[in-house]
Amino acid sequence: MELKLPKKALVTGAAGFLGSHLCKRLLDDGYEVTALDNLFTGTKRNIEELVGNRRFSFVLHDVTQPFWGQFDEIYNLACPASPIHYQHNPVETTKSSVLGMMNMLELALKTKAKVLHTSTSEIYGDPLVHPQVESYWGNVNTIGIRSCYDEGKRCAETLAADYRREYGVDGRMVRIFNTYGPHMHPNDGRVISNFIMQALNNEDITLFGDGKQTRSFQYCDDLVEAMRRYMDLPRRKIDAFVKKHKLGAPVINTGNPGEYTIKQLAEETLRQIPESKSKLIYKPLPSDDPKRRKPDITLAKELLKWEPRVPLAEGLAKTIGYFRDFVQG
Ligand code: NAD
Ligand code: UDP
Repeated sequence: MELKLPKKALVTGAAGFLGSHLCKRLLDDGYEVTALDNLFTGTKRNIEELVGNRRFSFVLHDVTQPFWGQFDEIYNLACPASPIHYQHNPVETTKSSVLGMMNMLELALKTKAKVLHTSTSEIYGDPLVHPQVESYWGNVNTIGIRSCYDEGKRCAETLAADYRREYGVDGRMVRIFNTYGPHMHPNDGRVISNFIMQALNNEDITLFGDGKQTRSFQYCDDLVEAMRRYMDLPRRKIDAFVKKHKLGAPVINTGNPGEYTIKQLAEETLRQIPESKSKLIYKPLPSDDPKRRKPDITLAKELLKWEPRVPLAEGLAKTIGYFRDFVQG
């Protein structure tokens, strides 16, 4: 009888919000998972339920340094993702994106692994095209407070595209639009975790600007499903898709096209936490804050036969449940 070994996956940023969900999914799918993280914004608590699994191992490592190992698939998530975290040490943020991507692409080149890189809707900056399509090149400030993240991610995309063209590395990219769910850091300043924590603690709900700016919120399970389907596709199918759509490199948006103002999000959060005594207050809008954001997911639908399933009200309820447990210890 032929011995069937599990596929091996490397996940960088594995102790973070999205990394932890992806690791769990890969283990459920039968993979052997090596989880790599420097624990800058991630926490071991996010992966503690996985530690007992014989197919799971954790390595404390910074992706700005080279890493060696034989893997079938590399999922590159390492990078702080919330504005207050990535602005805390902007030079390290750029290095995590750019050097981290280069190290993962070098590893893929030497070992013939596939790479799935997590890019972001931030590469569109404050977009002048709405909804955002992959062919839009963006409107990004190179020297603002968000630039370390936006430009780092843009350069990482360039690296993936060039390693593909020049060396044939099989790199695939998802441009992720605001994604939320359990395991988000309660103090990372992102709008959903902020509003839920504020509502649960009866603190003022802080709307930045007039609260009329929009975002589209994707539940974490929908994203993980898209990532798994993308990685599972054979390369020839990806190549044909890139050619058909004149993409230059395999890059697709993943997000939930439902678009909400930030004020609507605050009101829905309070509706779901009726005991809260919180009031809405207004604070200055941070600089370079995008006014509108909504993904066009036509390409993801075609390539992955995928679309998000979890509406905001349902995902918010699950996330509130997680944070309630968190607050109660
Ligand atoms: P997160 O901050 O929870 O996770 C990032 C993880 O990367 C953390 O565990 C952190 O400790 C680790 N990390 C950071 N720098 C590192 C380094 N130099 N070496 C090793 N590990 C490092 O954020 P997240 O929301 O889970 O985001 C994961 C990825 O998805 C990020 O690359 C982010 O840019 C991307 N993304 C997320 C969203 C979103 O809405 N959540 C949107 C777009 C893109
Ligand atoms: N925001 C807000 N109050 C908060 C945190 C964020 O009004 O307490 C706004 C923020 O200005 C932005 C939107 O919510 O317009 C989404 O912010 P987040 O940091 O979650 O993500 P990003 O700006 O990167 O999309």
